[in-house]
Amino acid sequence: MPKKIVFDDRVYFQSDVLNESGCVSHCFTSKCGGVSCGTVKGLNLGYRVGDKQEAVDENYRLVAGDFGFDFSRITAGRQTHSSNIRIITESDAGKGVSRESEFENVDGLVTNVKGLPLVVYYADCVPILLVDETAGVIAAVHSGWRGTVAKIVKNAVDIMISDFGADSEKIKAAIGPSIGLCCFETGEEVACQFDDSLLEPWGKEKFKVDLQKANENILLSCGLAQRNVDVLKICTVCNNDILYSYRMEKEATGRMGAFISLQ
Ligand SMILES: [Zn+2]
Repeated sequence: MPKKIVFDDRVYFQSDVLNESGCVSHCFTSKCGGVSCGTVKGLNLGYRVGDKQEAVDENYRLVAGDFGFDFSRITAGRQTHSSNIRIITESDAGKGVSRESEFENVDGLVTNVKGLPLVVYYADCVPILLVDETAGVIAAVHSGWRGTVAKIVKNAVDIMISDFGADSEKIKAAIGPSIGLCCFETGEEVACQFDDSLLEPWGKEKFKVDLQKANENILLSCGLAQRNVDVLKICTVCNNDILYSYRMEKEATGRMGAFISLQ
């Protein structure tokens, strides 16, 4: 069950499983609160959706204030639905938010640096946050349908293990708000790339695809324990009143953020 947190008019979700680790601060944002106007009204965290930079900066500052992040150190990639992961070091702090990003085609971030918040931004795509408290390593992953087919979250887990000594049995993961099976309707060209167990026939030659379950399955196949994989089960389309949804609002929609920082 997701935990809902409210600061003033800002609504966030957290994972109990990640909180159990005791070594991270994390959140999944909503569109409630924030200073953005127009079609991206609310707490928009996307710099490339036509919003004013000052507004997006202020929204990041609001989130930073709520969760004890240092705004100047929040780090993001230039997401392109790739399956590429980047290891973030101390010298990268702030890139993609308060500093220019050089991480083109990066949809997942891994770090062992304390106090260096990672963020992935999204609207319908699946955000996944990971931690291994023993190894002291965290990751943030943006996994849309293309990233899910390419198993980007497996790439992140592999790097946590190979480069930072993480143990798959100890890794905790949270799958955040994203388009649910209830609303992710696709044609056969997308559906055929997923296992039949993740599909539900829908009307004439259409299918619904369970992206959240697909990512959960990838994590389990990586060796994560079922109890350590927390699917928040929040659909962005069904909850479009409080969450941005690309499918509902098209190009004009804002972006939410999934943040994680090692304490
Ligand atoms: Zn839905």
